[in-house]
Amino acid sequence: MAKIIAINAGSSSLKFKFFEMNNEQVLAQGVFDRIGIPKGTIKIKYGKEKYEKEEELKDHSAAVKKLLQLLLDLKIVHNFSEIKGVGHRVVAGGEYFKKSARVTTRVIRRINDLAEYAPIHNPANLMGIKAFKKILPDAVSVAVFDTSFHQTMPKQNFIFSVPYEWYHNYGVRRYGAHGTSHRYVVEVAAKMMNKPLSKLKLISCHLGAGASLCAVKNGKSFDTSMGFTPLTGITMATRSGDADVAMISFMMQKLDMHSMPEVIYDLNKKSGLLGISGISSDMRDIEAKRESNERARLAIDIFVKDVVKYIGAYTAEMGGVDGIIFTAGIGENSSYIREKIMDRLAFLGIQVDKEANKKRGVAEFIVTPASKIAVMVIPTNEELMIARDVEKVIKKESSKEQVSNKKTLSVRAHSN
Ligand code: ADP
Repeated sequence: MAKIIAINAGSSSLKFKFFEMNNEQVLAQGVFDRIGIPKGTIKIKYGKEKYEKEEELKDHSAAVKKLLQLLLDLKIVHNFSEIKGVGHRVVAGGEYFKKSARVTTRVIRRINDLAEYAPIHNPANLMGIKAFKKILPDAVSVAVFDTSFHQTMPKQNFIFSVPYEWYHNYGVRRYGAHGTSHRYVVEVAAKMMNKPLSKLKLISCHLGAGASLCAVKNGKSFDTSMGFTPLTGITMATRSGDADVAMISFMMQKLDMHSMPEVIYDLNKKSGLLGISGISSDMRDIEAKRESNERARLAIDIFVKDVVKYIGAYTAEMGGVDGIIFTAGIGENSSYIREKIMDRLAFLGIQVDKEANKKRGVAEFIVTPASKIAVMVIPTNEELMIARDVEKVIKKESSKEQVSNKKTLSVRAHSN
């Protein structure tokens, strides 16, 4: 049917995955890096081939132009009319975007207004949207928001215990993140469990450099660990996760910092696994040092404890749990961390299948059939979810068009 591109545009990079939606096959994927700064790089994989080049990329528009030219030159498409849609990841959708949206002038204005909630990401996402709109004006353009999935959370789970006016007047509340990933893996989990998603209580653990857990009750996000920003929740690569905000003014004095953003920068960039271990923000490096370094062990212990704590809390909040999913960099690849987490959850009746838990890169149950709770590794695929959302919009619009064509024909027939 349609070829669709999923785009993740950052302030100086643009990642893409290009799909044939008939069979959801990836035709090409790649990244344009160092946009707007010297020594830009282009990396594209297509089939078994690779294209890599250093090239100046003046701005996002130049990168998009180059990407489309390369799709032609590398014979990935024969002409641009084959590209029916473009889906864009957008970080902050606020309370306005409860689902993915066809990009219009109004939608662009809204995304721009919401930039105060994601000052680095939303403007970058918009640069990608505008660049494609200019060069591929006929392709259906859809914005897919990290926050939309969490818009189903009940009020008690998204209101913070702060003056209510902060929410009412300024929109301070839990928005969450990684929604597209959580949404994707729970759909796969329900298929693996052979049960309707609407009847399941699941906990999705997206454990990457950024990490969040999401309690998904009857197919809907019920609670999630990231908050107003992605800083809260569990210990992450460089983010602190939950922390007492009163430490900010205390540390400002101790470190002679002159503004609050300096401390918040440390909580975002120098904390988490990196801050605790003093070694690295990468779980691989920390695992490698765990025998010899006490702080590496401590970083692992805190990370595991945080995940266990949230799983416990969400199990209690939902009144039970049928399945737990591990996904993203650490969740998909570290059998060591998964086993440590599952061992601490043995009291829930989880029985680890050690052989299955060693596998990587495939969707798999990692508990024995006797386990009371299904635990799965599911590689996430946010880009596919984005492309599917674009396909849905295209189908909806073409069925609307067919209905209106039929009406016009029948009006004409009657008037003849
Ligand atoms: P993000 O998308 O948030 O940048 P990813 O989902 O790509 O992050 O996850 C990246 C992280 O996954 C790395 O920083 C690393 O800590 C972790 N990771 C990847 N492979 C492994 C592995 N084999 N063992 C442990 N951790 C891993």
